[in-house]
Amino acid sequence: TKEILQKSEKLSLVGQMAAGIAHEIRNPLTSLKGFLQLIQSGESDKQLYYKIMNEEFNRIELILNELLLLAKPNPTTLCEKNIIGVLDQVVAILQPQCNIQNVQINCLYQTEEILVFCDDNQLKQVFINLIKNAIDAMPKGGEISLEVERESEQVIIRVKDQGVGIPEEKLASIGRPFFSTKENGTGLGLMISFGIIENHNGKVSVTSKENQGTTFTITLPL
Ligand code: ADP
Repeated sequence: TKEILQKSEKLSLVGQMAAGIAHEIRNPLTSLKGFLQLIQSGESDKQLYYKIMNEEFNRIELILNELLLLAKPNPTTLCEKNIIGVLDQVVAILQPQCNIQNVQINCLYQTEEILVFCDDNQLKQVFINLIKNAIDAMPKGGEISLEVERESEQVIIRVKDQGVGIPEEKLASIGRPFFSTKENGTGLGLMISFGIIENHNGKVSVTSKENQGTTFTITLPL
């Protein structure tokens, strides 16, 4: 288990971000320059070059879009919302993707209403990220449990999957900008999510066992 984004880590976040952005955008740029030169020099198979160049532009666009999410003014508008309703909406949004990937989401709620002061759109973003990651972790399908438990002063939400898991040595990198093991991943989803939870004065922790699954636990004050 790891409490994510401790203070010392946060201090270096800007530096990590800067290095990460430079790296992530330089790669597709280098490739774009190369193909531009090939086209200029009259090399053939322009159609293939255009296709690859288009993919590289899309890559830069994806990274910038995710960064813009981060740049949104942070003081969130907190309203009293039913967290169960928020989760139900997220499940509905992801249902088609679950069907395609053979994934079943089991909602294990004790009650139908738990009111939380939150920015529901931002929390939706968090749970969409967590559940999408859980789906990605189970390429052969499986089950995701969404557990909600109410304690006196807080609500605990767990997203559990039966996926590939995260190796012990990589656990510390979870949530670092641009840390991704996916071919088309940006490695920004969890960092954005952890930032949102922090803005809600909540906490995130993760436990994982390779080839058995991963559990993300979110705690929010009531
Ligand atoms: P991305 O999905 O673009 O890679 P994220 O920040 O959402 O970025 O996730 C970072 C990395 O954390 C993923 O690439 C994956 O290696 C790991 N990860 C996140 N969630 C899970 C999970 N439920 N099971 C296994 N690995 C996970």
